[in-house]
Amino acid sequence: MIIKNVNLETVCGITSKLPENDKPEIAFAGKSNVGKSSLINALMNRKSYARISATPGKTQTINYYNINDELYLVDLPGYGYAKVSEQEKAQWGRMIENYLHSSRQLKAIFLLIDIRHEPSANDKMMYEWVVAQGYNPIIIATKLDKLKRSQVDKHVKMVKQGLNLIPGTIVIPFSAETKQGREEIWELTETEFLG
Ligand code: GDP
Repeated sequence: MIIKNVNLETVCGITSKLPENDKPEIAFAGKSNVGKSSLINALMNRKSYARISATPGKTQTINYYNINDELYLVDLPGYGYAKVSEQEKAQWGRMIENYLHSSRQLKAIFLLIDIRHEPSANDKMMYEWVVAQGYNPIIIATKLDKLKRSQVDKHVKMVKQGLNLIPGTIVIPFSAETKQGREEIWELTETEFLG
């Protein structure tokens, strides 16, 4: 994908009505601090357009990035941040559920998991939930540069087993530092979900 222009077109809070876009949407989910903003910036060739959080989990919005007037990257609010209240957690759930139910243009969901750690209970819940909504998410195993090359296969296996992934589910290791995995994500998006 050649990035010609990017524009944060819509920011939806809990009470906002979601936009009815006429272009494909690719959504990104993951716990706070997993590297979602960093991934979205890397995909857009921007350094800090998507906010990289100093205080994770603070803003609960759904952000729509218009890419080349061709598609939207949709940044879903991060989950699992310990310091938010029960009320905020419930709001988060409603926002995501509403998005998954009502977006007619949602073509793919990427679920981000930190490659270093066993998937958390929240990660598992999120995966199962997305599957229950009828989607088969693609897994992005983030922070790849934090592992030695010799550890990668073992950790990919740990992610697969930890989430109990449906056989055949794609797992793409990614690093925002080296940009490894970026091309693969765009290629998959272009060949499978656009056009
Ligand atoms: P978000 O809360 O999921 O949007 O996560 P951010 O993109 O804000 O990243 C959280 C922290 O992890 C920041 O300090 C990032 O610099 C760091 N980070 C994100 N991706 C990577 C990566 O691929 N490699 C390394 N080493 N650090 C990363």
